[in-house]
Amino acid sequence: MAEQDFDTLTQGEQNASDHVRSLCWDGGRPFCPKCRGAKIYHLSEQRYRCPHCTYTFHDFSRRWLNVGGLSPGQWVMLCGHFAEELTANQMSQTMEISYNTAYKAMTTLRLAILSQALDSRQFLGRDAEIDLGVEYVPPPRYKSAINVPVFGILERLGLVFIDLVPGLQGETLFHFHINFHLRLARMGKLVYSDRYKQYDAMIACGDNSLPYHILHGRKEAPSIDSGRHGFWSYARKRLQRYSGITPRRFPLYIKELEFRYNHRQEDIRPVLLELLCRFVPTLT
Ligand SMILES: [Zn+2]
Repeated sequence: MAEQDFDTLTQGEQNASDHVRSLCWDGGRPFCPKCRGAKIYHLSEQRYRCPHCTYTFHDFSRRWLNVGGLSPGQWVMLCGHFAEELTANQMSQTMEISYNTAYKAMTTLRLAILSQALDSRQFLGRDAEIDLGVEYVPPPRYKSAINVPVFGILERLGLVFIDLVPGLQGETLFHFHINFHLRLARMGKLVYSDRYKQYDAMIACGDNSLPYHILHGRKEAPSIDSGRHGFWSYARKRLQRYSGITPRRFPLYIKELEFRYNHRQEDIRPVLLELLCRFVPTLT
């Protein structure tokens, strides 16, 4: 979609609504979001019923943009401001919505970004407590506060991949540091390492259970701090801006940065809008 075309979406709710509706059904006919049945009945007020599973729905049922209470026009605006990296506070003022509404809508958008990643199942599985029945979808939750996930950063040919490293916890990084001299550095609650296996670095967002004091006064910086790593140069200053980052929300931020970096040459607004129109993944 051309930039100009996207700009016209911000002119009037009807424009945005028509466009979002067509994105939802990929320009085709509505089908049942529950059983995917193609035969549906049209009810009043743009609602539908599936004769097969009796589910009653509307165009946005079970989709991300149905989480958070914004209108299509507001979502279009939010995508624009999100692309400009506005904070929730700036967003609430510009859009004249409450801070909570802006914050929740941004979380929904971040979840939609996370859910399109190839490894999203690891974040949005049963433990993540994604529940379609609630209006607000909470971010991923891990089993205990000590369970701090570790992500591997790998950049090749200008594309970055942020993987959940299986079997590793925040504590393991400190263990590797002490016993195998893996270089570690700290940035607030974040801890990141030197190269490890195929990864350029590993990164984790810990809580107070991690022995950060061990790193006090250490001088040897991980190689990723050399200034020559494209993603890290891009992500470092942004991660510093996220105040009050928690282990639970960290996957949302790091996967958002992966998305932003890999789309850094594009207008991401139409991509964001398209992601919002996708169905929230169901639990399996
Ligand atoms: Zn159905």
